[in-house]
Amino acid sequence: MGKTMKLLENLQVIDLKLDAWHGEKNGLLGETTALEGQLETERGSIAAKQAEMSEVEQGKRELEENLAAETDNIARSEVRLKDIKTQKEYQAVSKEISAAKKITAELEEQVLQKISRMDELRSEIEAMEANLKLLEENISSRKTEILDKIEKLEESIHADVAERDSMIKGIQPALLSRYTKLRERRQGLAVVEAKNGSCLGCNMNLPPQVYNNLFSTENLITCPHCQRMLFLRRQDDDIQ
Ligand SMILES: [Zn+2]
Repeated sequence: MGKTMKLLENLQVIDLKLDAWHGEKNGLLGETTALEGQLETERGSIAAKQAEMSEVEQGKRELEENLAAETDNIARSEVRLKDIKTQKEYQAVSKEISAAKKITAELEEQVLQKISRMDELRSEIEAMEANLKLLEENISSRKTEILDKIEKLEESIHADVAERDSMIKGIQPALLSRYTKLRERRQGLAVVEAKNGSCLGCNMNLPPQVYNNLFSTENLITCPHCQRMLFLRRQDDDIQ
């Protein structure tokens, strides 16, 4: 069992390394997604501003149409004024004209407000577009870095998987499956050292009989608390 435990211990070193590689790769993929999301958000904000701009432009066009209609009305009333015979009618038409002039003044004011809002929006959109361009450049170069790192990670993963494949040929399938299940349940650690009467996986004291068995038997010994497979680190292991 000593030799098998050594194999499992080495297998676990590779598996922990693979876990770390995969974790790093997932982290990088997550970062890419977050960066894309950031771009989407910025593009969405610009689109919203552009939609507001179209709305303001449309409003301005409607105001200008009303203004043109009112101006025509005034011009027609002023022509009518010349042919009016009675004082009463003259006063009525004059009143209409001054009311229409009041309306045109209000419409002109509203058109000016729309123009000033359009100026604001135009400069906001320009600033946002400049920002977006910078962001796109930064994100694009960061993504190149990320893809480069992922490629290197995949090379490492590939090499380790190949080493792992040849390593597991020396381990009994039943033991390997036990090891795999233990790793799933025990945060990646299936094989742990027993030292000074304790399991270094869960840090609990081992019953003396269990600990002593590690010295005297070649059978597989597991921790009664965390079920991990135990091994003793012998002096010649450290010298290697
Ligand atoms: Zn334990």
